[in-house]
Amino acid sequence: MDINEIVKNATEVIRWGIIGGLSYASLLGGTSIICNLFNHNKRMKSKEELLKVVEEESSRLNLDHNKFKIRHTTFDDGANLLGFVSGDSSGNYELGIPSSFGCTRNTVKHELVHVANKDYMHGALHYLFIGEPRAILYGTFGIKI
Ligand SMILES: [Zn+2]
Repeated sequence: MDINEIVKNATEVIRWGIIGGLSYASLLGGTSIICNLFNHNKRMKSKEELLKVVEEESSRLNLDHNKFKIRHTTFDDGANLLGFVSGDSSGNYELGIPSSFGCTRNTVKHELVHVANKDYMHGALHYLFIGEPRAILYGTFGIKI
């Protein structure tokens, strides 16, 4: 095998790696967005409703809802479509729920199951290939694996 053939094969591997990576990322992000689109009419309309849903869904996952500080994200936060969850060392969490498009029970379920599964304790590869698909499955269809 000469050097040109090696470079050609390496280029092909990189090209398909990029195409595969972008397709996978689009599938993950797209699934959440499409799911929120279909649930747009079920959007939570008030902070009280959001608190009630967080309490209900925390209970289903055996999580203490008092550990969650809820932040309604806005366009200013740059995170209006998708939610997020982050934790501190004392076991408290900040739960970011979009204030418009993605303000649904599915988003709450998705973010809470990340905590229940302790996805934050693993690296980026775990998050990308195990945590996120599992959270999408639970948030969208209620299937917990
Ligand atoms: Zn997620």
